[in-house]
Amino acid sequence: MPIARLSDLADKTACPRLVVKVGSSLLVTREGPRRAWLEGLVAEIAAAKARGQDVIVVSSGAIALGATTLGLDKGGRGSLADAQAAAAVGQIALSGLWAELLGRHGLTAAQLLLTLEDLEDRRRYLNATATLTRLLDAGAVPVINENDSVATQEIRFGDNDRLASRVAQAARADAVLLLSDVDGLYDRNPKEAGAKLLPEVHGVTAEIHAMASGDSSSGLGSGGMTSKLQAAEIAGLAGIALAIANGIHEAPIARATDEGIGTLFLPKDVRGRKAGARKAWLGGRLRLRGALTVDAGAAGALAKGSSLLAKGVTEVEGLFQRGDAIAIRDGEGRILAHGLSEYDAVECARLIGTHSSEQADILGYAPRSAVVHRDQLILL
Ligand code: GLU
Repeated sequence: MPIARLSDLADKTACPRLVVKVGSSLLVTREGPRRAWLEGLVAEIAAAKARGQDVIVVSSGAIALGATTLGLDKGGRGSLADAQAAAAVGQIALSGLWAELLGRHGLTAAQLLLTLEDLEDRRRYLNATATLTRLLDAGAVPVINENDSVATQEIRFGDNDRLASRVAQAARADAVLLLSDVDGLYDRNPKEAGAKLLPEVHGVTAEIHAMASGDSSSGLGSGGMTSKLQAAEIAGLAGIALAIANGIHEAPIARATDEGIGTLFLPKDVRGRKAGARKAWLGGRLRLRGALTVDAGAAGALAKGSSLLAKGVTEVEGLFQRGDAIAIRDGEGRILAHGLSEYDAVECARLIGTHSSEQADILGYAPRSAVVHRDQLILL
């Protein structure tokens, strides 16, 4: 029974495995951690565990907390070096706090600090999956953050919203709950009169993107609505529901699930789940090594489930190797799919527009059946 409403997030049958992401502004003020509030949230997590749900926490707040301790301005986000130093100081206190408060309910906290590459590289992604699965089987509560002290600009998620969705994919969770300082997605800037909270969103369309503004309203985290929508897209590709709810209140999980206040993004279909874990990983990839542009004929064939043939490729971009993840775009630059290339970029360029009967001569060996095989691509 798939998730259909916010209350399902508290239902162990509809949602056996839940990822709860906690934003920086909820956990930390300029004075330090919001301990009493966190005690309340941990009690809710303990209740979910007692109901039989697996819970994974994605906790922000390391940079904000470390900045307070070190007395750094701009919440520790003035420079990368500041953020890395702040995270190193804040993370140790943050994980101590989670471990202590979960421990009071007899729950064991397990810390995982991940970088982007840990989830982009297939082998490392599977390692993370195995560790998470083992921890959940053992009854622990994984508490995850980005490894901000070592992740540099080019290799970081930068926000925990997308990290939470990637973790949900890796752990095969059923839903992600993003607790933030906003009630959810509004149909326009929530400060404008008449702005309405959208209770449900089916598919993150261009119209939905237009409703979001990019910045973190508190200035403490790095999220904002844009990264939350990207997180909803990543989750949706894997058939995972994602909810945004306001965590500022006492018992924020119950406010979302009992009172139904928040926005629930439902996956367009459960294709992600049907297509399997490997395709979900591929669809959620954030870094791609290159791109192939295709003509209208190939775009239509892809939509019907065919492989991508060289005949339909019009342009090759990037210096990818065979087996690398690449984007497949239409003539207008819209990304149609992600896939693993059967050839490197140089070979792809030589094969552009060719028919399979000509390819052996061009390559000097028997060609593969496609440039991107349908088993290795996911439509977006
Ligand atoms: N990883 C960051 C931290 O712990 C938070 C990123 C975000 O704000 O989403 O401070």
